[in-house]
Amino acid sequence: MTARRHLAVSMLKREYMMISTSTQTASPDCIPCHLTQNAACNLLAMVITLSILLISGCSSIQSAPLPTSTTVLAQLEQNSHPKIPQESTPLHLPVATPTPASSPTATPTPSPFFRGPIAIGTSVAGRDLEVFQFGSGDSQRMIVAGIHGGYEGNTIRLADELIQVLTAKPDLIPTKVTLYILRSLNPDGEARSDSYKGRANENLVDLNRNWPAYWQSTWPLEGCWTYTYVSGGSHPASEPETRTLMNFLLTYQIESLISYHSAVLGIFPGGQPPDPASISLAEAISNVSDYPYPPIETGCQYTGQLIDWASLQGIAAVDIELTNHEDTDLWQNLKILEAFLAWDQDQPNP
Ligand SMILES: [Zn+2]
Repeated sequence: MTARRHLAVSMLKREYMMISTSTQTASPDCIPCHLTQNAACNLLAMVITLSILLISGCSSIQSAPLPTSTTVLAQLEQNSHPKIPQESTPLHLPVATPTPASSPTATPTPSPFFRGPIAIGTSVAGRDLEVFQFGSGDSQRMIVAGIHGGYEGNTIRLADELIQVLTAKPDLIPTKVTLYILRSLNPDGEARSDSYKGRANENLVDLNRNWPAYWQSTWPLEGCWTYTYVSGGSHPASEPETRTLMNFLLTYQIESLISYHSAVLGIFPGGQPPDPASISLAEAISNVSDYPYPPIETGCQYTGQLIDWASLQGIAAVDIELTNHEDTDLWQNLKILEAFLAWDQDQPNP
């Protein structure tokens, strides 16, 4: 973490604590919270935190330097995660550094932490695939945005907003969870266009049709909202973006996954037919959102999809389609984030 971002985050944390802590001497800015102590107070604190973040924190997040290869290699040597298969694209993920206990008698609770952006691979055109990591718990979860590039660019903006919120409030991550956010799986499409021309990757492959699950090189376009030529690739997992994410999901033993899309159709559980864990996750998300569930059927034949491949690996996975191609639906997706982090495969949904 750069000194600049560290300072910005520290300021934000301090600001939030001033607002939300009632037992300490309140400054004039804290008076409403000091008096009311209700949920609106917490909402106000969040809004102020977000506002400050948007003013002071965003540029520092965007400008955070990538780790050098030397640093990454040194960190990987200490990594307790499974080793990366040799034939795979190398991953560059640093390992968590535990915060030293303040005294020998301190309760050994894991410290929330943040790292990113971390390049885990590159696109066809050589752009970095960037992951942010939050928390250090045993349950590995992941959010993927931008699989359809600039055409669904609001999913990338949503990912950036979630990253900003979690950077300001890392304690939103439960101690049992590690959350990874891949902000843009298709940066080449993102750079090309924010119209349908930005949907595929640099090889004109639809990255959500390239996975080794019910794969086909082409499919009927009827009902699929596809307005230009795209393919499923020359073979399953032909694209570096697909292989990089596949390698990451397996190496870090991701247990549950949200893949963001836009627009309109709702929440899709992974699997053909959907598996029970993915259905459970879709229901938990549906309980806190307005997105259609079951999803809207358009007659599209879904081949080579990320969530179907994830389902075959035992990963609970859902696609979520935002309301349109412009809005990020941030507040709704903060509730979804909370539900996603709290979701337990072994517990029935409330
Ligand atoms: Zn999509």
